[in-house]
Amino acid sequence: MASRVTFIGAGNMASAIIGGMISNGHPATAITATSPSDAFLEPIHERYGIRTNTDNTTAVRDADIVVLAVKPQVMRDVCEGLRDTLQRQRPLIISVAAGLDADTLQAWLGGDLPLIRCMPNTPSLVGAGAAGLFASPQVSEEQRTQATGLLEAVGLVEWVEEEGLLDAVTAVSGSGPAYFFLMFEAMEEAGVKLGLSAETARRLALQTALGAARMAQGSDLTPARLKRNVMSPGGTTERAVEYLEHAGLRDTMAKAMEACARRAREMA
Ligand code: NAD
Repeated sequence: MASRVTFIGAGNMASAIIGGMISNGHPATAITATSPSDAFLEPIHERYGIRTNTDNTTAVRDADIVVLAVKPQVMRDVCEGLRDTLQRQRPLIISVAAGLDADTLQAWLGGDLPLIRCMPNTPSLVGAGAAGLFASPQVSEEQRTQATGLLEAVGLVEWVEEEGLLDAVTAVSGSGPAYFFLMFEAMEEAGVKLGLSAETARRLALQTALGAARMAQGSDLTPARLKRNVMSPGGTTERAVEYLEHAGLRDTMAKAMEACARRAREMA
């Protein structure tokens, strides 16, 4: 029988995961989403036919998995409100909230529950996410497999065995989409300077990123090797890549990602 999953919160992240689960064949009747506001619940019920509830406690009563998908600012109230019920039932809990560590969540929930922290990213909203997961010691192998299945519905899942590594995940994939958006902006602006229309430059840049990612994903070769393969000696690509290397792109990326991970640590 499919596991019964309750989402606390029915916003962007919950809707994305629910959409992926439904596409993967998870029965809608085994999924519940909650929100204090019917404005969030009606569209998600209409779209996916899942159960909805404005009362969190009632909604978790028969759940095997509870996904905490509210904003970090309301998480404490939500956890403390569910504490007694969750302590009695001990379902698997998955938090997708940025910046709230397992100890903090456990303290709000009364402690010692099977808890997974997930650091997703925004492309989950289009089914192409990348998420890092960390499990507390109370989580069983079967529950890990369940969490993997659930989150693979919206993209790639990578487990880390130390919670601190979720800060590194934040630096690579959590905040990563913005690095590429910046790159697209820069490529579009540079393309315009070279005479293309902004639309043409943007479309070419986006398709090139997609193509490069697909090639790298489908290949046994490392990105370094793939890069060398498109750089003929004395050619155009070599000229551009040499320029990027001399301008310090690698060092800039390393410093930007260190700053990101540091900020994630400060916020936890
Ligand atoms: P959102 O604002 O779209 O959704 C939040 C939902 O929580 C809404 O449905 C709201 O009605 C509901 N809610 C508020 N108070 C509640 C309560 N007391 N009980 C039950 N539901 C309540 O937010 P989102 O973008 O889906 O983000 C949710 C979580 O996901 C956040 O913790 C965020 O850090 C994390 N996250 C989101 C993204 C993203 O791409 N959107 C990426 C990484 C992490």
